[in-house]
Amino acid sequence: PPLYMQRYQFVIDYVKTYRPKKVIDFGCAECCLLKKLKFHRNGIQLLVGVDINSVVLLKRMHMLAPLISDYLQPSDGPLTIELYQGSVTEREPCTRGFDLVTCVELIEHLELVEVASFSEVVFGYMSPGAVIVSTPNVEFNPLLPGLRGFRNYDHKFEWTRAEFQTWAHKVCRDYGYSVHFTGVGEAVGHWREVGFCTQIAVFQRNFHGSMSNAERLEPSVYRLMYKVVY
Ligand code: SAM
Repeated sequence: PPLYMQRYQFVIDYVKTYRPKKVIDFGCAECCLLKKLKFHRNGIQLLVGVDINSVVLLKRMHMLAPLISDYLQPSDGPLTIELYQGSVTEREPCTRGFDLVTCVELIEHLELVEVASFSEVVFGYMSPGAVIVSTPNVEFNPLLPGLRGFRNYDHKFEWTRAEFQTWAHKVCRDYGYSVHFTGVGEAVGHWREVGFCTQIAVFQRNFHGSMSNAERLEPSVYRLMYKVVY
């Protein structure tokens, strides 16, 4: 399967194993991952998508609407889906208390100073149970035919494995998480040494228990674009 499908499948497999109830997808774009998660629910009760670009959100969000079959065969309990226009660099009270945050090919679209706010907002403020972050592994780039420069004109950086891991380990120290590294898209033969085409970090929060409610009183900054309750 193509690489983007392998990235989505990685998240679906994670959800199947760990069964988070509240999941938020940052940089959800045309909601492809959300649509797949809606289909492979595995007990998800709240599914939220956030993107800074309302135009891409609007394009395909109707795909998340219930199908006739959803009413004929009511599945596992109620499900709410919400889409917001907003930035991952902003503190939004309704994003706190999630079990899983996914950031598939998002961080390389942020300026490095924004990556710092992103880390503070996601790990420090939202403090979800787990976070999945995927990003290109620049060490793989020589294997991509005809590629000069970054993989996409909008990428602000592409990291080596060492750079990605340095960032991830600092996040763990600062906010109390553990991380392991994996990826999708493997080269063959001696090229395997360059690592995965897409590198993935899976973070797990070290402490259990719920957070204080105090900061939930902050004003909302996201714009609700779509909401459906099954
Ligand atoms: N996650 C999707 C996927 O894997 O198919 C799409 C990834 S796309 C390469 C990156 C997305 O991140 C774009 O839709 C872009 O609008 C969004 N984005 C960029 N900066 C953002 C920010 N600060 N906050 C939220 N979304 C952002």
